[in-house]
Amino acid sequence: MKLVVVGAAGRMGQTLIRVIRETEGTVLHAAIERVGSPFLGKDAGEVAGAGTAGVPITADPLQAFLDAEGVLDFTSPASSVDFAGLAAQARIVHVIGTTGCSAEDDAKIQAAARHARIIKSGNMSLGVNLLGVLAEQAARALPAAQWDIEVLEMHHKHKVDAPSGTALLLGEAAAAGRGIQLLANAVKVRDGHTGAREAGTIGFATLRGGSVVGDHSVLFAGEGELVTLSHSARDRSIFARGAVAAALWGRDRKPGHYDMLDVLGLKH
Ligand code: NAP
Repeated sequence: MKLVVVGAAGRMGQTLIRVIRETEGTVLHAAIERVGSPFLGKDAGEVAGAGTAGVPITADPLQAFLDAEGVLDFTSPASSVDFAGLAAQARIVHVIGTTGCSAEDDAKIQAAARHARIIKSGNMSLGVNLLGVLAEQAARALPAAQWDIEVLEMHHKHKVDAPSGTALLLGEAAAAGRGIQLLANAVKVRDGHTGAREAGTIGFATLRGGSVVGDHSVLFAGEGELVTLSHSARDRSIFARGAVAAALWGRDRKPGHYDMLDVLGLKH
C-alpha cells in the first residue's frame, strides 16, 4: 500500500516513517511538510533516522495524494481538515491521529468522509482502545450516585492541547456507559472555591512534563474503595503501528468515517 506521511518531520511523522519501512505490504510513497519548512528536500528516511528512503520531503500534498492509496496524518486540526478535503478528492484512505479538533473541524472532516475513507481516533493503540471498552463497562456497572468518575492524564511538555484526545476518548466511553452526554457532564478545570463535587459529572485532570509519551487512568471512586483502570504508553511506535494497521484495514472499505474500535473489531 502506497502511503503518504504528512507532518513527516514531526515526532509522530518520523515514527510513522520508521514503522512503514518495517511493515510488509506498505511503502513510503511521499513525505510532506509545510511550505518554508527547513526539512523540504531532505530525505524522509534520513530525517526519521531510518536510513535513506529515496523520498524527498515536499510541500505538495495534492500531487502526492493523487498517486497514493493512503495518507497518515498526525499534524494539527486546521491541517487535518485541509488534508481531509484533498484525500476526498483523491479518493484515498485518510488516517487522522491529530487531536484537539473543534466540533466545527470534526463536522468538516465528517463531510469529507462522504468521499474518503477516514479513520480518526484520539489514540491508535490497541491497549487504550481496550481500556475504553473496559471503562464503558465499569461505568455501566457502577451506579452514578455512589461512584465518581475522574480521568487523569500525563504527557510530555511539548503537547499543546488539553485534556488529551485519549482522555476525551476515555471520558466519552465512560459517558456512553452511563448513558449521558460527555459535553454536558464534563468538568475540565477546577480552581479556587469550587464547591462540592456534583454527582454524575466526569472530571478531568491534566499533568504535563518531561518526555512522557502518554499515561492515562480512569478512576472510579466509591465510598471506601477505588477502582483504577490505566494505560501507559512507553513508545510512540504503538500509535504508528495502529495507524498503519488502520490504513491497511481501510483499503477495502466504503467511504465513511471510522474509528479504531472498527479497525480492532472492538465495536459491540
Ligand atoms: P509535532 O512533533 O509538532 O509534529 C507535527 C508535524 O506536522 C510538524 O512537523 C508540523 O510542522 C507538521 N505540520 C503541521 N501542519 C502541517 C501542514 N499543513 N502541512 C505539512 N506539515 C504540517 O507533533 P506530534 O507530537 O507528532 O503530534 C501531532 C499530533 O498527533 C498532535 O495532535 C498529537 O496530539 C497527536 N497524537 C495522536 C496520537 C494518536 O494515537 N491519535 C498519538 C500521538 C500524538 P510545523 O512544526 O512546521 O508546524
